[in-house]
This record gives sequence, C-alpha cells and structure tokens, in this order.
Amino acid sequence: VTKISIIGAGSAVFSLNLVKDLCLTPGLWGSTLSLMDIDAERLDIIYRLAKRYIQELTIDLEVEQTTLLETTLRDADFVINTAYVKGHEYAQKIRDIASQHGYYYYRDYYSIPEPGPPALTNFEQLNVTLDIARQMETFCPDAYLLQASNPVFELTTLLTRSTEIKICGICHGHLHYRDIASTLDLDPAQVTAEAPGLNHCIWLTHFQYQGKNAYPLIDEWIETQAHEYWRTHVSANPFDIQMSPAAVHQYQLFGLFPIGDTVRSGGWWYHTDRPVKHHWFGNPWGGPDTEHSRPHHVHDLAQRRETIKHLLETDTKVTHTLGSHRSLEQHIPLIDAIVNDHTNIFQVNIPNQGVIPELPHDVAVEVPASVNKHGIQPQPIKVFPRKLMLEVLLPRWLAMEHLLETYLQGDRSMLLWNVLQYHHIASLEAAEILLDDWLRMPENMSARRHYT
Ligand code: NAD
Repeated sequence: VTKISIIGAGSAVFSLNLVKDLCLTPGLWGSTLSLMDIDAERLDIIYRLAKRYIQELTIDLEVEQTTLLETTLRDADFVINTAYVKGHEYAQKIRDIASQHGYYYYRDYYSIPEPGPPALTNFEQLNVTLDIARQMETFCPDAYLLQASNPVFELTTLLTRSTEIKICGICHGHLHYRDIASTLDLDPAQVTAEAPGLNHCIWLTHFQYQGKNAYPLIDEWIETQAHEYWRTHVSANPFDIQMSPAAVHQYQLFGLFPIGDTVRSGGWWYHTDRPVKHHWFGNPWGGPDTEHSRPHHVHDLAQRRETIKHLLETDTKVTHTLGSHRSLEQHIPLIDAIVNDHTNIFQVNIPNQGVIPELPHDVAVEVPASVNKHGIQPQPIKVFPRKLMLEVLLPRWLAMEHLLETYLQGDRSMLLWNVLQYHHIASLEAAEILLDDWLRMPENMSARRHYT
C-alpha cells in the first residue's frame, strides 16, 4: 500500500486539489492518504471533506488525520509538504512595520512575497522543513519529499545539502506559458513549451506551435497588439501579469520571456512605488505585490477557507463543488509515474547535476525531468543567453546562497546587509532601526536568539 502524506493539509490552496487528483488516478487507488497539520480545526475540515469526496466517488482510499509529524511520516512513501509556518498574517505584520519606516518593498526577491531579509522572515519555515526532512531520515528514509511550500529554491537546495532524503520541489508557476498561448489565440493543445531556470526565475527556452518556433508570434504580438492590450486589458486578478509590460520588458532586456512568478520580480525598477507598479504590471492591481493586492490575496485565501468550511455544513455534493476533473498540479501525476512506472515529463526542482553548467551540482534547478520507477532524471535544456546568466540567474543563485549562509551562521550583520541591498531605505541608520523593530516582534523571538 502506498502511503502519501500531506503536511500542512489545512492549506486552502493545495489539499483538496490533491485529494481530488488522487481520487481521479486509478493507479493509486488502494493508497493511504495521511493528512497532517498543527491546526486541528483546519485539518478536520479538510479531512471530513476528503472523506466525503472519496465516498461520493466510491473509491478505495484510506484517509487518516493527525497533528503528529511522526505519525504521518512513519512508513510514508511520499511526503508532500505544503506547511507555511508563520502564515500570511505574520507576513502582513512584517510589511506594516516596513512601511512605517518608509521602506517600500513589495518584492525584489524572487521567491518570497515579503519584505525583509528572507533569512529572517523564513526562519521558522527553514527550521520546520529541515526538521521534517531529518525526521523522514528516521521514519521513512526511502520516501520522496515533494516540497510545495516556499521558498522552494532555498529549501530544496538546503535539504539536498543537509539530508539524505530524496527531495523534489514542485511549483505550478511554469503553467503560465499557457497565458501566452491564450493571449496569442493559440490552441494550448498544439503548443509545447519549456521554461527552465531556478524556481520563480524561469525562462521560456522553447515555445512551439504546431511543431514550429512560435517566438516570432510573440514578437509580432508585441509589435502590433501589445499596446492596445495594455491600454484595454483589465487584469482578472492580481496574478494576471504574464503579458504585462514588465514581462515584455524583461524579455527585451534578457533575451527570453519570463514565466509565472518570474515576472513579479525582475528588478527594483519595476517596484519603486504604486504608479510605477501600475505602469509595469497593469490595472487595476499593479500586480500581486502592492499594499493593496497583497491584503486582497490574504483576504481571498481566508474567504476560500470559509467557503470550504461552509461546504461541510451543507448537503451539496463535494464532487459538485470541486468538480471531477484533475487539477493541473503535478504532485499526484508524479507519484503515479513513480509508483506505476508511467514515464512522463514533469517540471521539477532537483539538484542541478550539471544541467546548467554555470551552477554547482548541488544547487536546485527547475528543469524538465523524466520520471518513472527509476526516479527523476533531469533532461538536457537549451543554453541560456549569457547576459541572462550574468544579470539574473547567477545573482539569483547568489541570493539563495546568501539566505542559506545567513541562516546557517545566524549572522545578524548579513540580515542588515540584506535590508540595505536594494536601496529601498534612506540610510544605514534607518536600516538598523528597521531591523531592530522586526527582530523585536514577539513572533520573531526565536529568530532574535538565533541571529546575533
Ligand atoms: P496557509 O497558511 O493557508 O496553509 C498552510 C498550512 O500549514 C496551515 O494549515 C497551517 O496550519 C499549516 N502549518 C503551519 N505550520 C505547520 C507545521 N509546523 N506543521 C504542519 N503544518 C503546519 O498557506 P497557503 O496559502 O496554503 O500556502 C502554503 C505554502 O505554499 C506557502 O509557502 C506558499 O508560498 C506556497 N505556495 C506554493 C505554490 C507552488 O506552486 N509551489 C503555490 C501557491 C502557494
């Protein structure tokens, strides 16, 4: 019996999609699904809905719930980690303190939608994820860890270096190539795309329509339609930025089209203030990382949790609300490929092993990989333009190394350097005061002890 464990199963983003995908994958029927979260109430809601969904479809799947890490890990074959330790409210407090200091920082850093030194704001996230992997070494040493929560790049690299666990980071951001296809009116079924790089920093190296290079179609769209699109397009949600001026500008600067969350960062010059953000990321949101759209997103997630909770209280069929089509998430298909030896290509974050020759072997790269019962084998990718390497990918690699080194050394001066680095703050003194204020937050008590 295959045991699949989901840690952070109370997440409104992931769990029910994973349950649905599992139910719709006959090769995994008979498995045990173990749901784990430290929040018993959230967990129980997901557990009961999962059970109902499974019963409605009369599928043979065992589901259990637990608040204990050891219980969920014991004899697991696959562990999907979606735990977000401090949660969205903490991130909002960090942002509020930043803005009290005139620090306008709504994302430069590629992985993390929070201001502040990522080694500080992700301190618990790093601790907890490392602990999960270490406990896996004891309770399920042969299991795969599918790392979904952020920062995927940093965590996948850290765990690769510090543990013996088989780790694979998974992100759905690469699917945004489909937004390009739909904007260009291309049938997505006839489009093939590849967008490798580092997580949240991935670039369209291959884009074909009906077997032919479709980059000229993007160029033509930019020349003839982009301005009208930008003038009239009203973003459906804050994340609808794949065809924004910022994306096109990054393409023009670096030579390849940025995909998914890559578009969100790109450089400080897209982020200096609200009007600038609106110019680059479009109306009405100015992208997902403004003082308006971040709280909107958090509110949206809270509403999603309320809707899920409400679902429990009604007689409406869960199948009716969740639907019975698989999501586009890769976790369950990837497990299916390994368990049932269905060779397939996935976009995963795994140790580089020479796929990007400019980067060390133990850095987690996001690349296409062939997956089957023998494991996860990276596929060769096209060479990146040298300027993209020098201006984006190598600096992004260094930022990851900086975060890990800051964390591993507990070096407070490296936190300070991080606050200063993007010139969002007026002076060294102001940066020192801001860092003190962040560290004084009760939520940062253990980080305060760690960073000396
Ligand atoms: P959320 O806060 O709604 O859910 C996270 C869950 O983790 C909560 O139920 C919480 O109780 C639980 N949790 C916290 N600490 C835990 C611990 N120590 N052990 C077990 N469970 C714990 O967050 P969310 O919006 O669902 O996002 C979850 C994570 O996924 C974030 O890191 C987010 O950035 C990331 N994310 C990744 C992708 C992707 O494609 N990889 C997409 C969206 C979000």
